[in-house]
Amino acid sequence: MKSFRFAALCCIALSAPLAAQSPAKPKLVVAIAVDQLSSDLFEAYRLHFTRGLKRLSSGTVFRNGYQAHAASETCPGHSTILTGSHPARTGIIANNWFDPALANDKKVYCAEDVRRRPPPADGKSGGYTVSATHLKVPTLGDRMKAANPASRVVSVAGKDRAAVMLAGHRGDQVWWWSGKGFTSNLTPRPAAVVAQVNSGIAKLIARPRPDLIPPPLCAAMARRLDIPGDRDLGIVRFGRAAGDAAAYRNSPEVDGATLVLAAGLARELRLGSGAATDLLAIGLSATDFVGHAYGNGGIEMCLQMMSLDRDLGDFLGFLDRLGVDYVVTLTADHGVADVPERDDDPVTQRIDASLTLENIDSNVRSKLGLSRPVLLGEGIGDIYVDRTLAPAVRARVIDATVRFLTAQPQVHSVLRAADIAKLAIPTGAPSGWTVPQRVRASFDAQRSGDLIAILKSGITQIAAPGPTYAAAHGSPWDYDRRVPIMFWRKGAEAQERSEATATVDIMPTLASMIGLAIPARQIDGRCLAVNGSTCPRR
Ligand code: ZN
Repeated sequence: MKSFRFAALCCIALSAPLAAQSPAKPKLVVAIAVDQLSSDLFEAYRLHFTRGLKRLSSGTVFRNGYQAHAASETCPGHSTILTGSHPARTGIIANNWFDPALANDKKVYCAEDVRRRPPPADGKSGGYTVSATHLKVPTLGDRMKAANPASRVVSVAGKDRAAVMLAGHRGDQVWWWSGKGFTSNLTPRPAAVVAQVNSGIAKLIARPRPDLIPPPLCAAMARRLDIPGDRDLGIVRFGRAAGDAAAYRNSPEVDGATLVLAAGLARELRLGSGAATDLLAIGLSATDFVGHAYGNGGIEMCLQMMSLDRDLGDFLGFLDRLGVDYVVTLTADHGVADVPERDDDPVTQRIDASLTLENIDSNVRSKLGLSRPVLLGEGIGDIYVDRTLAPAVRARVIDATVRFLTAQPQVHSVLRAADIAKLAIPTGAPSGWTVPQRVRASFDAQRSGDLIAILKSGITQIAAPGPTYAAAHGSPWDYDRRVPIMFWRKGAEAQERSEATATVDIMPTLASMIGLAIPARQIDGRCLAVNGSTCPRR
């Protein structure tokens, strides 16, 4: 008869704990994108997290993560996370771009199907049909379903573009916030829980909400900022009137609702319990709504961070109770710079109100003696030159625009599409990329502007704070590019990693964990070995 001691010795020897041992494949991949969660913001609050973000921070944390490209906006950023590709490859080079081939409204929204544009009066759809048609590559979910049709792909977000870019082309349940609840034109068979959650949200919105009671950390940050316009900034605690759905959305509450729907879908569809690995993608947009309205250095963002931490804690606790083996990754689509009014740093300032596209256009036209507008765009950034102009006139317009903009003290540089197109897609640590390389990573010859104008570091692209936009992102500077990248799995060792990594590395990392082969030539990212997982040889 074996003694207990002998049995223990036997098993320790046989399990060879120091040998490389791949963990079992997770049955559920949970991919979370926190909109506008810069590395600076994450680090500022990291020691104060006690719930979900503390747990995720106890896994593998890449402190120098990058959305490596220059166009640090929501749609490009989300497009990199689960495709493993820079926007130059995903085709999602901005939230909006201009397509001169379109007859009327030349502006293209990244997540719309331009072939199915409803009449502009259709308020319900916002004048467009949500779609992934502009996304040129498959997502992890698309690849999982191609490998095994039993895989389910579910995506829920506070913004349609976040839900679609994370889901890809073949999502089973794709839901986004629209006005008063979650909606979809991409989900033919809605799960029953969606109507239940929407009904609960309607009841919450119908009730007034008192101001949140800030914890001491946040209370100490309350300081009214002196900004133009009739609005509060620096002291807001998210109280709202009964029925104010817009205030519900622009507050921490919408992240809680998004996580409740994600949890409800996980339970109803029994994600992680089927024959194949499933994917649950979650876009948490409130940090971006709060950050745009109030900046990220005050009591408002403090309340948002504390709420997000708590809601993520509840969500992860819910997943634990489902009893499935899941892995979580969390990152962001871009960072942000705070409102310039918060501090006295002279480097941080608002863009000169004269640097509008209309003013640039009229200046160029008056120099060249042209009568009708020749430039198209949304201001500094991608600028399109009228493609119906004669080639010689067009060349003169491009030269004159470059001359005018480079003479502006707030402009860092103006790049020509023809020069960017000659560059190779950059590789290696994104911390060392030049500005033109960053621009190249989010450049598409068909969709990008003829010129790409870059503001100097610290210049906020909002001339005057409005009610919902006071702070901005979108620059190639590191406050907009650096984002945390985390992986967490039950029982995994804590790892702090300092090497520069990119959000395009997330997809191949997850793919290797679930045993999905991805041809390296099809993507820009590389697999990261985390928590004992191994990567395929390159
Ligand atoms: Zn965003």
